[in-house]
Amino acid sequence: MDRETLRQTLKSYFGYDTFRPMQEEIILHTIGGGDSLVLMPTGGGKSLCFQISALVMEGMAVIVSPLISLMKDQVGALKANGIAAEFLNSSNDEGLNRDIINRCLEGRIKLLYISPERLVGGMMQVLQQAHIALFAIDEAHCISSWGHDFRPEYTQLGGLCELFPDVPIMALTATADKITKQDILKQMNIEDARTFIGSFDRPNLSLDVKRGYSAREKLRSIVELIRRHPGESGIIYCLARKTTEALAEKLQKEGFAVGVYHAGLPNSERDRVQDDFVADRIQVICATIAFGMGIDKSNVRFVVHYNMPKSIESFYQEIGRGGRDGLPCETILYYNLSDIITLRKFADESGQQEINLEKLQRMQEYAEAQVCRRRILLNYFGETSDKGCGNCDVCHTPPQTFDGTIIVQKALSAIMRTGEQIGFTVTIDILRGAMSPEVVSHGYNQLKTFAAGRDIPYRDWHDYLLQMLQMGFVEIAYNEDRHIHVTDLGKEVLYGKRSVQLAVISREDFSVKARRKRQQEEQRASSVPAENDENKELFEKLREVRKRIADEHQWPAYVVLSDRSLHHLATEKPTTLAAFGNTFGIGEHKRDTFGTQFIEVIKEYAPAQEGLPFPENTVETPATEKPVSYMEQQKQLHANAYAPWTEKDDEQLAKYVKEGISVKEIASLMERNNGAIRSRIRKLGIEL
Ligand SMILES: [Zn+2]
Repeated sequence: MDRETLRQTLKSYFGYDTFRPMQEEIILHTIGGGDSLVLMPTGGGKSLCFQISALVMEGMAVIVSPLISLMKDQVGALKANGIAAEFLNSSNDEGLNRDIINRCLEGRIKLLYISPERLVGGMMQVLQQAHIALFAIDEAHCISSWGHDFRPEYTQLGGLCELFPDVPIMALTATADKITKQDILKQMNIEDARTFIGSFDRPNLSLDVKRGYSAREKLRSIVELIRRHPGESGIIYCLARKTTEALAEKLQKEGFAVGVYHAGLPNSERDRVQDDFVADRIQVICATIAFGMGIDKSNVRFVVHYNMPKSIESFYQEIGRGGRDGLPCETILYYNLSDIITLRKFADESGQQEINLEKLQRMQEYAEAQVCRRRILLNYFGETSDKGCGNCDVCHTPPQTFDGTIIVQKALSAIMRTGEQIGFTVTIDILRGAMSPEVVSHGYNQLKTFAAGRDIPYRDWHDYLLQMLQMGFVEIAYNEDRHIHVTDLGKEVLYGKRSVQLAVISREDFSVKARRKRQQEEQRASSVPAENDENKELFEKLREVRKRIADEHQWPAYVVLSDRSLHHLATEKPTTLAAFGNTFGIGEHKRDTFGTQFIEVIKEYAPAQEGLPFPENTVETPATEKPVSYMEQQKQLHANAYAPWTEKDDEQLAKYVKEGISVKEIASLMERNNGAIRSRIRKLGIEL
């Protein structure tokens, strides 16, 4: 088999001109009869390895997959490309399953997807009568009890090489860890298999981390993110089920089509939400980590981590669900002090405390990165990169630091003087000089450090304490009511033996002015691809055609054509079937089946307009800015402006005043303007 034939097969079935790195080598090795272990990231093009092999080999490929949804998606996409693929699983009725088996035995199926239960539960013997080209074991880490998704049925797959000694086996996984890799080879009995490690780099995923945001700030920043992606899909991962529900409700109130997905929901509801998301009826999913396994949706344009994930593996797998079509996908990770406290507690209480704390530590290092974030990720997966990626927040705005030794010393001193008997909140109370009940009852207001950090706002103290925790100057004693202890390293700082660089706190500015500026910048940024002549209006029209075809076939839109193919069509504007078929991601079958429907629309936009007497739209109408009322403006500046005061608000306000916090700072804490705070204080008759 020569490389040219492989490329022709790739082009005629899938419409791609070139393979991604490693794919060709893996396919050639498989065709030659060799076993292989393929390690590639989610979205790295693993499935094409066995799909092309199956198409060029004689006989049928059997693909073992643990996930019904993934089988459904892949078989759907293969059929849309005119490939004879089917799946056998419990979601089919038995009549259909029998019919599929018959077609397998008659050699009329090219790729058969099957669940491990069904294969080891009798189908292995049945398949001995069929002509099998290869076995592909997807999500192969399920075979290892070391991995996080252990499936006992997988362990019986070790019998395949005895029953089918001449059939090559391809084991595929996105898990990089060493023990799991060795375990897969051993248990599958393919210890001589060649290991292929694809690059874990996904350069189209942008990386951004935002530290210390309050719930309200996160919400605002997420709303802006969704507005930046009108009509485009995104996933928001949260740590807790409750958070997914609360966040979804808030986003729904903002007018977005949002669904909730977590393991506590009934199966039928989860399936419905997933289907709605895949078919673009829901724009955003708020989910726990339960969501995403087995989703092949290629046009996810943003992935948000509302809380910090517990390991880099989980994080990378989750962001890997974005941008599968190779187009840009934005990823944002928010994290704050309480995430760390919760996650450390989970890790502490887990069965594998040491491993889990270590994994969390690596995740924190990523979040705290002072160098290119992609370098840290790639390094984690065993790849080295010696330059910045240019597509992460650290590369865009290198972090700034300042000498924070005195700040850190003040905090450490406050903690030490209480005999390490306080948590973060009381520490800040002492530093800020707040007469809170805890402070007064323990006499902390008599300490030398009382009010020593009054010049630093409450929220900034929060951030500095988080940085101190990250840098290992303090630790949390979970067994002592979460009191903070100063570490030996911290003591070095306290006694002047070590200086500290703190990161300058940068927060997104949500003011009207800043928001406008961002919008302008984004418009500029988004107009860059338009330089390559893409017709935006045509793109939208093509999207409509795609939607119509998708609905007719009850397919997700991206199965008809990917976003990337649509962009190519809107740019290249092919008006003949041949040219259409030569477009990225369009194979012969799609060309012949839907080509004319798209071409009809493209013709309306193709350059045949020489005869026009006047060029249209030569006069640009200036964009008129709507005047914003004062009330509107205040509402945009302060989230709670003009919101009625609740009893709880009043209590909080009284508390702040009592603690001696300034009006300006109370205004920022309560997200109202200074005037509103002053007038409320007067109204309640509180003494300043
Ligand atoms: Zn970078």
